[in-house]
Amino acid sequence: MPSPIVIAIDGTSASGKSTNAKLVARALGYIYVDTGAMYRTLAWQCLRQRVAVTDAKAVAALCRKWKTQLVCVDGEVRLLVDGYFPQKEIRTAETSAAVPQVAAVPKVRDWMKQSQRACVKFGNLVMEGRDIGSNVFPETEFKFYLDASLDERSRRRAAEGVRENLAVRDRRDSERAAAPLMVPLGAKVINNSTLTAEQTSGLILAEIRRRLGDAG
Ligand code: C5P
Repeated sequence: MPSPIVIAIDGTSASGKSTNAKLVARALGYIYVDTGAMYRTLAWQCLRQRVAVTDAKAVAALCRKWKTQLVCVDGEVRLLVDGYFPQKEIRTAETSAAVPQVAAVPKVRDWMKQSQRACVKFGNLVMEGRDIGSNVFPETEFKFYLDASLDERSRRRAAEGVRENLAVRDRRDSERAAAPLMVPLGAKVINNSTLTAEQTSGLILAEIRRRLGDAG
């Protein structure tokens, strides 16, 4: 059997990764994986268990012990903790502020990488995050990096009812030592400041189909 195809979509906060990754996954019939949700889930678990996210050792210890399960529901992978999917809880401002600290812990990144690579058991994937093309699946031929101006990204988040300092989160993600946010080697960079989601996902799909066609 051929090994599953992985489409890696990385980029800055609110650059349209989720919207476009979902559109691409639906168009191709692939499984969608939101790796940010996995980091958010660990940050939420730390807050819930009163583990200081600034204490890297304690965060790593919690990550070693937590009881999780990866499941695929309606074409999307979910990380359950004690059998529960904290869909709403991981989107609060408190969790968003805590997640870059948790994500900077090397042991956490090792755990996440292993879990994310295991998702190929569900089939072909569209996986979005910050280090998918550079670190989780560096071998994939399908790498995309999305960006948009800070004004446009802040406007998009505000339209979702979320007020957050995106520049601070991006800086934390880019400056950490372990698997920082970067443009992966060989990635197609798309600045979608003036593009609709249909246009952006259209560009991604055209590139994937061209490459799949070339390979076939
Ligand atoms: O994509 P989302 O905004 O949900 O990601 C939340 C946070 O999770 C990011 O700001 C980053 O700190 C972390 N993250 C990461 N690597 C990934 C995905 C997310 O470090 N692959």
